[in-house]
Amino acid sequence: MSIKENLEQVKQNIANAAVKAGKRPEDIVLVMATKTVDTERIREAVRAGGRIIGENKIQEAMKKYEVLKDEDAEWHFIGHLQTNKVKDVLKFADMIHSVDRLSLVEKLDQRLQQEGRSMDILVQVNTSHEESKYGISPEEAISLVRQTAKYDTLKVYGLMTIGLFTKDEVKIRKCFKALKEINDNIIKEGIDKVQMKYLSMGMSGDYQIAIEEGANMVRIGTAIFGARNTPDAYYWPSEKTDADRAGQ
Ligand SMILES: *Cc1c(COP(=O)(O)O)cnc(C)c1O
Repeated sequence: MSIKENLEQVKQNIANAAVKAGKRPEDIVLVMATKTVDTERIREAVRAGGRIIGENKIQEAMKKYEVLKDEDAEWHFIGHLQTNKVKDVLKFADMIHSVDRLSLVEKLDQRLQQEGRSMDILVQVNTSHEESKYGISPEEAISLVRQTAKYDTLKVYGLMTIGLFTKDEVKIRKCFKALKEINDNIIKEGIDKVQMKYLSMGMSGDYQIAIEEGANMVRIGTAIFGARNTPDAYYWPSEKTDADRAGQ
């Protein structure tokens, strides 16, 4: 199937899942996960109606942005963000899904202040408790949201998670339920300046489940572009870097 046909199928599935969850199809935002996909295929997807490009790696994203910046699309950064890449992410990103530690918040704030602007962000939570995935622990998530909200340069718009990779639907749902619960607790607390607008959860294998569990932003790659050649381990390193361990 062509990218256009895949995209239409995904949108149809999203619409069905939305209705099942008591939402309107247009309430669910589709982010195309475009890692490893070349610029011409991304362009094709954008022109076929994919409005948001989600990239994982700064260098890859910047190269693609140079080629595609005139296309009518938003750019989201969905990968692990190293503190020393903050300056670069701000060159192209409209939203960052992967804010997961205070040191990163501080660095983003510093740079945004210099540039005299703000950035829309989501806080990434590790709901699967997998060492290989980034994100703050569920227990610490609310506290990070509170702290982030103190910075005028950062607009907190919700939460992001990657569900557990398993065929066991119960375990996948557990991750999504955990994120929804944190979301609801934050709303209940009513943190000043925080707008819990988006729950970014669900990928090609589990987006229908995610929508049933409350997702209104899904990140989909394979179902639109086909299988990737590069192993995902390259994008989600199982070993955290020394810089990460040092909390930089
Ligand atoms: C690759 C990726 C996705 C999409 O994965 P697919 O299984 O190809 O749909 C979603 N979110 C993140 C953070 C990713 O890196």
